[in-house]
Amino acid sequence: MSETSTSTATGIDGAAVAERLRLSFDLDVDICVVGAGLAGLTVALEAARLGASVAVLEGRHVGWNASGHHLGTVMPGYGLPVGDLIARIGFEDTRELWSLSKEGADYVRANATEQLIPGIALSEGVLEVSNVEAGDQLISRLQLLGEDFETEVEGWQVDRVRDQLKTDHYFHGVYYPTAFQIDGRKYVHGLAALARRAGARIFEDTPVVSMDPSGVRKRIVTPSSPATSISARRCGGCRRRCCRSGATPP
Ligand SMILES: Cc1cc2nc3c(=O)[nH]c(=O)nc-3n(C[C@H](O)[C@H](O)[C@H](O)COP(=O)(O)OP(=O)(O)OC[C@H]3O[C@@H](n4cnc5c(N)ncnc54)[C@H](O)[C@@H]3O)c2cc1C
Repeated sequence: MSETSTSTATGIDGAAVAERLRLSFDLDVDICVVGAGLAGLTVALEAARLGASVAVLEGRHVGWNASGHHLGTVMPGYGLPVGDLIARIGFEDTRELWSLSKEGADYVRANATEQLIPGIALSEGVLEVSNVEAGDQLISRLQLLGEDFETEVEGWQVDRVRDQLKTDHYFHGVYYPTAFQIDGRKYVHGLAALARRAGARIFEDTPVVSMDPSGVRKRIVTPSSPATSISARRCGGCRRRCCRSGATPP
């Protein structure tokens, strides 16, 4: 296997001072992650922390897509209103998903320290405001979030929201005292740095063009040269000792 240095990403928020490497020959790893966004880097970090050999293949560069542009608001929930989620999958499953999202926020908090990611600038509390008058829904929303979904929330009346934000544009608000704000760009590059430090190897400018998932050794192909590929040894869900130790499974 060999690596080609394609550029040096110096000065990207401090945390990303690392050679940008492109994969150009065969590589054999336990786990191959495709995409160096928040999801892929989190998987890579945790797998490396557990002792797996990990390669991340990123078509452009770390945080190239949404993960490099997010606003850094970390709070429970998903990219659609909780009511829509309930309508789609039902109350109980939404509650379970909500609980998972709280664990996700706790996970980010554990990484987002100044020691692990210098300059992450975590600040406590997130205020969600409404730009339409819908105060009548506030009570039921607080009840749902606070009681049913066990999330710390405070209802803010219009005056308090306007006083805090110094504008009359908004109406009521829901304040999440345990949610927080971080520098989103620093976080994704910090995750990459943590993953590298844990032993994961991140290859950029290395798009995956095809995969052959059959068999124990999964073959993942990139276009840098016809021979470039990764064989990932980790068979899905397998907990056999041979996999954990990195030995080739029978
Ligand atoms: C403007 C904006 C603001 C946001 N603000 C917030 C916020 O404040 N809080 C919040 O929680 N969420 C926010 N989000 C959502 C959040 O950013 C995304 O949910 C999250 O970044 C998704 O991460 P991901 O790793 O799944 O995907 P991505 O960030 O899209 O990463 C996928 C990576 O895979 C790579 N890739 C794709 N195909 C291949 C291939 N074939 N080979 C190799 N690499 C490949 C891409 O180049 C990319 O880098 C925001 C999103 C946007 C756009």
